[in-house]
Amino acid sequence: LKKKKINACVNPDWMPVEGIDNGKYVGIGADYLSLFQQKLPVPIKIIPAKSWVESMSLAKERSCDLFVLGTDTKKQKEFMDISLPYLKLPVVIATKQDVLFISNLSDLSNKPIGIVEGYALEDVINKNEKLINFVSVPSRDEGLQMVADGKLFGFMDAASAIDYTIIRDYYGELKIGGKFNIDWVLGVATRKDEPLLSKIFEKIVLQVPEQTKQKIFHRWVSTEYIKGFDYALLWRIFAALLIIIVIIFLRNRQLIRHKEEIHQKNLQLKEINSQLEEQKNEIQHLADHDFLTGLPNRKTFLTQLDHAISIASRQKYMLAVLFLDLDRFKNINDSLGHQVGDKYLKGVSIRLKSVLRESDTIARIGGDEFLILLEAVEDATYPSIVADKLLNSIKQPIEIQDHTLSVSVSIGIALFPDHGTTSDVLIKNADGAMYLAKERGKDHFQYYSQQLSEKISRHHVIEQSFKSAMDNRELSLYFQPQIDLKHENIIGAEVLLRWHHPELGNISPLEFIPIAEESGHIIELGEWVFRNACQQFVNWWQKGYQLNNLAINVSSVQFNQGNLPDLFKEIIEQYGVAAEHIEIEITERYIMDHTDKKMHVLNALRDLGFRISVDDFGTGYSSMAYLKTLPLDIIKIDKSFISDIPQDKNDVQITKAILALSHSLGYKVIAEGIETREQLEMLLEMSCDIGQGYYFSKPVPADEFLQLLSNTLHRDIANHAS
Ligand code: C2E
Ligand code: MG
Ligand code: MG
Repeated sequence: LKKKKINACVNPDWMPVEGIDNGKYVGIGADYLSLFQQKLPVPIKIIPAKSWVESMSLAKERSCDLFVLGTDTKKQKEFMDISLPYLKLPVVIATKQDVLFISNLSDLSNKPIGIVEGYALEDVINKNEKLINFVSVPSRDEGLQMVADGKLFGFMDAASAIDYTIIRDYYGELKIGGKFNIDWVLGVATRKDEPLLSKIFEKIVLQVPEQTKQKIFHRWVSTEYIKGFDYALLWRIFAALLIIIVIIFLRNRQLIRHKEEIHQKNLQLKEINSQLEEQKNEIQHLADHDFLTGLPNRKTFLTQLDHAISIASRQKYMLAVLFLDLDRFKNINDSLGHQVGDKYLKGVSIRLKSVLRESDTIARIGGDEFLILLEAVEDATYPSIVADKLLNSIKQPIEIQDHTLSVSVSIGIALFPDHGTTSDVLIKNADGAMYLAKERGKDHFQYYSQQLSEKISRHHVIEQSFKSAMDNRELSLYFQPQIDLKHENIIGAEVLLRWHHPELGNISPLEFIPIAEESGHIIELGEWVFRNACQQFVNWWQKGYQLNNLAINVSSVQFNQGNLPDLFKEIIEQYGVAAEHIEIEITERYIMDHTDKKMHVLNALRDLGFRISVDDFGTGYSSMAYLKTLPLDIIKIDKSFISDIPQDKNDVQITKAILALSHSLGYKVIAEGIETREQLEMLLEMSCDIGQGYYFSKPVPADEFLQLLSNTLHRDIANHAS
């Protein structure tokens, strides 16, 4: 190296420090220069130059041989050779203390950022970020002062320079407010016309050990900024935390609201549940109980009975099932209406309950049917005591809407285990026993028995056979002549129904008529009788046998049919029978419990021209005075009075009285059941008008009756001729 000295341009901003050029200049560049100095045999002379532009123009004048420069540009390379970089300095920004830490150049857009005029840094940064509003300032000191005064947002320079100056002049006021991923690479620029210089420095640079480089770097670049608090990050974290807290808070509020809603919903559900429970109980109650009386129904009774049977069979005690059926309850319904009937049933159920013990069960199983279960029965007579009490309590009148009502009841009793061991059998047998109680005159109780069982099954068969009887021509009409006692000739006939059952054979009307009345079949049966009787009557007339009276038995059940007069009218019109030839027989019992409605029917029949006769008179204990008020024509003295005359003086007296009274009231009298000549003579003595009985003829089929008629006719003709 021929040179006597090497002129190096250095920025005069640096503080003088011992070591180089008499300790005039310091800084990273100076440190390096002093390093270089140690390797060089000639002294380095410092030429002050504020910027690389100035340094370069000095180099062009050849008064500067080298300078340290950050990054290389084309312009620099024109006159200078540039060594390998020996140091990289991060680019930072000085800002006021209160500015948030900046790490992106984009955060500086449109902000006035100072930079030393002519610094290569401007070029470097502008390569990356075009939007920064760079303001050239003459020197670093002025730039930082402008930041401190608020004229600039920040001032950008290499980390070492800013750090040094802030610590020196603006400690606590300014700070390193941002660092960017831009390095300011320091290399040594040597004049191109001194090529040896560049080779020497290249070599020297390479020889600087890494450790030394680090030492120099840390001497000038505080690393504090690296640890520098990232307020932006803090804010972001804070904001994120805040958002999280807000979200949690909102979420919590939502959850609380939801919880409250759930609580409310739960309360509502509870309410609904309890309502449902109530409704369920209500429905259950309705399903288990009779709606009218509130008593258990058949289903509930069966459950109770099954349960009782299972306990009773283990503990070996008796049970009693009582089957109750009100007698003639239908009359109340028919004559006073269903409302009164319903109220009466309610009254009855209260009565029945009042007689029973708490442990007994009572159920209503149908219209006027009740079942009672007596548990733990100690002896077989106990149910009869209860039945007696029930009979008595029911008989006491009940007041309903101005009506004083009283009906009796028939009770059947079946005992467990004697009369059945299952609920079905016990109920069936109690029911059967009840039927027998009814047959025996009602207002009774009756225990079940084997003999009864047969009767029940026969009863059942009969009840089931009515329909087929009519369809299969099992029914027929018999006729019993009614005789004018004085002249002993036939003036009429009573129509009597006959039934030849395919299995049971001939069944007496005394047996099947009550069953037909109970089951309601009597309505159809009665119409059948009336129709066929009229047809037969017309048939005889057409054959020249003009009978005067045809007596037809009509059941009280038929009378309760609203349209009976209309029906009879229609039938006689259909066959062309005059109403005055038809005598309608009704029983005294029916007449006895007459009501206005029945009077109305009787009057209507009479208005149509029918005659009304009271059958079985004397058995119903009706008073003659009472008879007087009724629209009647004929009284039929019951055969029970006739059969014992003339022996039984009592019956003679009764018959006499009936005859006398009837005549005085203007009624004709028919004596039923005349079987002997004696009876006939006695009746003639008592001036009885008409007679009927085996003495004259049993009831006979139509053709036989025709024979009787023709015999009488021939006899009359013969008598007449004689
Ligand atoms: P009722 O109307 O009093 O009929 C007279 C009953 O006495 C008849 O019994 C008849 O056969 C019987 N009889 C007649 N003369 C004598 C006699 O000299 N000695 C005896 N011991 N009996 C005699 P029957 O035919 O068995 O009828 C019984 C009852 O059945 C009838 O009594 C009547 O209440 C009822 N009945 C018969 N046919 C009908 C009918 O078509 N409709 C209705 N509703 N009831 C009928
Ligand atoms: Mg009769
Ligand atoms: Mg009779």
